[in-house]
Amino acid sequence: MKENSSVYYDVIIIGGGPAGLFSALSIKNKDVLLIEKNKSLGIKLLITGLGQCNYTNFCSNDQFLTHYGQKGRFLKPALYKFTNKDSMNFFDKVGVKSIVREDNKVFPSSFKAGDILNALIEKCKENHVKIMCNTKADYVKYNEDSGCFSIKANVNIYECKYLILSTGGKSYEHTGSTGDGYKFAKILGHSIEETHPSLTPVFIENYDFHDLSGISFENIKITSWRNNKKINEFTGDMLFTHKNISGPVIINNSRYIEVGDILKFNFTQFKNSEEFKKYFEEKLSLSGKLNVKTLVKELNLPKRFVDKIMNLANISDDLICSQLSKTSRKALIDLLSNHEMKVEKLGNYNVAMATRGGVSTNEINAKTMESKIINNLYFAGEVMDVDGDTGGYNIQAAFSTGKLAADSINLK
Ligand SMILES: Cc1cc2nc3c(=O)[nH]c(=O)nc-3n(C[C@H](O)[C@H](O)[C@H](O)COP(=O)(O)OP(=O)(O)OC[C@H]3O[C@@H](n4cnc5c(N)ncnc54)[C@H](O)[C@@H]3O)c2cc1C
Repeated sequence: MKENSSVYYDVIIIGGGPAGLFSALSIKNKDVLLIEKNKSLGIKLLITGLGQCNYTNFCSNDQFLTHYGQKGRFLKPALYKFTNKDSMNFFDKVGVKSIVREDNKVFPSSFKAGDILNALIEKCKENHVKIMCNTKADYVKYNEDSGCFSIKANVNIYECKYLILSTGGKSYEHTGSTGDGYKFAKILGHSIEETHPSLTPVFIENYDFHDLSGISFENIKITSWRNNKKINEFTGDMLFTHKNISGPVIINNSRYIEVGDILKFNFTQFKNSEEFKKYFEEKLSLSGKLNVKTLVKELNLPKRFVDKIMNLANISDDLICSQLSKTSRKALIDLLSNHEMKVEKLGNYNVAMATRGGVSTNEINAKTMESKIINNLYFAGEVMDVDGDTGGYNIQAAFSTGKLAADSINLK
């Protein structure tokens, strides 16, 4: 304790999510205070992976880096220094066994996020970290003369030599991630890249598929268009919900999608609409007396989806191939293989699983997580302008950056 009204710690960590907890348990031989504004730690962690906590992914290190948009390069030192296998070993050593699913997603074998959280808290306690919940950091200041940071929380002042900001992003605000870290980083001279909801469903103008809620497609091909220019191509699994389109291919690529974009869906297994058109027109010409619907059914699409498409194309169930007009044929081919949907909006922070944007990575040393602007200021986790795909990439990034910040402080 210093001889004034403030309380001094060597290290203060603001935010008790996976990033803050991993930093706290990894710091050696220093007095560490972890401040969390909620009444308990890791509230968001507890709801991850539907409460089962998909905490990492079993893919190779190189593949790992491809799951963070443009930010793989920034995260490389952190993710290579503390890898997915290191996370699994860490939990194994503390008695939490893991399970690797067929899709490479890694969970605790109990499928209980609480087991992951408890292991992290236990390790913090073993490391004599002072944990203060119900403690909201309101203000952060750097005192150039003393080289210390002052943090105001619950009318008290705390001082420290090393400060780690691990306050998370802005999604699911009720879990405590309300973007406070951006305010603190800004006060300390950092730039904030504009934030947007990420990993979020996409809402479509005049959405036709409310009643197909729950119907999903594997390996569907989607192209996105802006101002009549093709912007991106995505392939993966998608889902219709009663309000929007979702599923991994939508959620993971929502960071590249903007309001007003046109998404073109190829629901067939053909490489593109041209190939499907060629196949389907030939098939139609050879199947004069067959019902058009019978041909569509041969595409192995969900039954309710086929009904819907026939309905949208205005083709009655008993129409035979030879009766199909040129216009209806074109409409049907487009609805199946070049189906256009205009993006009305993206899901907001209440439904987005992550935040795009945040503290600019240009001002953070990727090898240490230290600020390039103020010495001894560190960042960890989603407060930074990094966001990963679904599949365990975000929690692993929180662990790896938290560990790297702690290791860098350990070397000082
Ligand atoms: C529904 C949902 C499911 C998800 N599922 C997965 C998944 O299965 N796998 C995966 O990898 N990722 C998943 N994620 C993403 C993942 O949860 C986050 O990326 C991760 O929690 C980020 O960790 P963090 O420690 O940086 O921030 P957070 O977990 O957001 O923690 C930040 C903490 O800081 C505290 N805090 C904020 N401001 C203050 C302040 N002023 N004073 C004190 N404390 C403060 C907050 O209360 C919070 O506890 C999911 C997210 C959601 C919303």
